[in-house]
Amino acid sequence: MSAGTDRDRLRAQLAGHLDRLRQEGVWGLSIPEAGEIEALQPVGTEAVQAVEEETLEPVEAEALSCVACRLHETRTKVVFAVGNPNARLMFIGEGPGRDEDLQGEPFVGRAGQLLTKIIEAMGYQREDVYIANAVKCRPPQNRDPQADEVAACRHFLMRQVALVEPEIIVLLGRSAVGAVLGLSAPLSRLRGTFRDWNGAQVMCTYHPAYLLRTPSAKGLVWEDMQLVRDRLAATSES
Ligand code: URA
Repeated sequence: MSAGTDRDRLRAQLAGHLDRLRQEGVWGLSIPEAGEIEALQPVGTEAVQAVEEETLEPVEAEALSCVACRLHETRTKVVFAVGNPNARLMFIGEGPGRDEDLQGEPFVGRAGQLLTKIIEAMGYQREDVYIANAVKCRPPQNRDPQADEVAACRHFLMRQVALVEPEIIVLLGRSAVGAVLGLSAPLSRLRGTFRDWNGAQVMCTYHPAYLLRTPSAKGLVWEDMQLVRDRLAATSES
């Protein structure tokens, strides 16, 4: 990733944050003194705050009528999330594809069927976990979501995380990693270990669509999911 692309991503994330603050009625920000700057947290690790909502319903209602980015122009359905709102485990993907856009549910196409198999192999059902995406509307022709689209949608994802309060979050693929952690390093370097993020343990791994194209990577994802399963089992015993 070039410095220019990183800068664009940061600019888009900042624009998204400022829009969100403006929607919440914040019209001014104080500028920190030089010595305070080190104390600020980098992009992607800011505290996930439970805003006024107590449940996911108003967040979903807002998402269903969202027109904050260009993706609303071509969507059929907004794809908010599926699963258990009290789940200990949350999966975050990139964004809806064609099947998801038609059905309004995340991960129902071929990649979704593979994700469901992975969840079941871990000993869970789809209904046990919470599944959402970095962007809630389908990018045309299944292109990657653009930085400003991810930024415009990020507050929905952060509110979902704040309300579900999962113990473990699995980030599926680069877009999800970028949207949540603000990292752009290759997944080969990021996967395989947990990261602390806002009170949750985060595991980055390959997207199931990548596994459909590269079946040889399935073993690596299974290693990651075994770590996730074992950690959940250990914390439920303690
Ligand atoms: N890919 C994703 O990232 N999310 C979906 O919901 C479906 C496919």
